Amino acid sequence: SRDFEDDNEPGRVRVAVRLRPRNAEDLLSDADFADCVELQPELKRLKLRKNNWSSESYKFDEVFTETASQKRVYEVVAKPVVESVLSGYNGTVMAYGQTGTGKTFTLGRLGKDDASERGIMVRALEDIMANITIASDTVEVSYLQLYMESIQDLLAPEKTNIPINEDPKTGEVSLPGTVTVKVRDLDHFLELLQIGEANRHAANTKLNTESSRSHAILMVYIRRSVPEKAEDDISSQDKKTKSNLPVVRKSKLLIVDLAGSERLDKSGSEGLLLEEAKFINLSLTSLGKCINALAENCPHIPTRDSKLTRLLRDSFGGSARTSLIITIGPSSRHHAETTSTIMFGQRAM
Ligand code: ADP
Ligand code: MG
Repeated sequence: SRDFEDDNEPGRVRVAVRLRPRNAEDLLSDADFADCVELQPELKRLKLRKNNWSSESYKFDEVFTETASQKRVYEVVAKPVVESVLSGYNGTVMAYGQTGTGKTFTLGRLGKDDASERGIMVRALEDIMANITIASDTVEVSYLQLYMESIQDLLAPEKTNIPINEDPKTGEVSLPGTVTVKVRDLDHFLELLQIGEANRHAANTKLNTESSRSHAILMVYIRRSVPEKAEDDISSQDKKTKSNLPVVRKSKLLIVDLAGSERLDKSGSEGLLLEEAKFINLSLTSLGKCINALAENCPHIPTRDSKLTRLLRDSFGGSARTSLIITIGPSSRHHAETTSTIMFGQRAM
């Protein structure tokens, strides 16, 4: 049976679903407390109600109920990716779902007052820093926002319209001009995240938009010196160097807080809102196509269609490891959005 630990299919996208606890708004509006989903975590299944009489059941790699802890979600969804990145492969963790369902809670929560609330970004860096023990090894981060097909540096917000560069030989994706900061320790990283969040908020206020309309992307670059013997395990990188010098192994981890997946009411929208909707639709649709192609083992992954998928190009598929967490709310008033989120997750399975 398939799960997150299964190493036989490195290119496959692992998909987990997480249910947000009922909030005050749900409690007010759902007089009958009718949930639109029923979780069966032991079976890794989710039942989606279709109408009063029937429901459809879907299988995932993992199913998290509203009581699942941040720690557990990290350990199941992100830790295998982090471990793979520490051993030299690229990897991606993404959250997809309607606005308000817990993407940022799951990925970006700082947990300043309560470390148990820390999200995947902080826990991943904590794990990475703990494993980087050689003085010459480095961990660097950049933090970006992708809004309407334009990339902005959240650590240096004056930098906008950042181009995506792809090395024609290696296929390596880079973003010339972005700030990458060498992380000293976890506190330093928390500071950087906070600066990034503040800049994201300021940029969106200026544009009179909401952060839910943009994708936030944390990139973590790891460089490790490994003795040549260990390097022989990895076939892809520079084997011809037969000196006794250590080889530098580079890898990167992308953590992507996707724009809200809700369909904006296009009939009622105009101007900026309509443009935003088109761009979000473009990037999430093209992400869906890539995930689908990975699931079907297609030799060609169509990453050209959007900036989001071009950015991800060398971080998913092939030897890279990818986890997707889809977030949903319990309320039946969001039945249509919840259904479409579950369908997106199923396309990857
Ligand atoms: P999104 O980023 O998908 O728009 P948020 O992460 O901002 O959603 O979550 C919306 C609200 O719900 C926030 O107040 C957040 O703290 C809360 N929330 C989300 N998921 C959980 C959870 N698993 N447990 C407790 N609170 C949560
Ligand atoms: Mg959010």
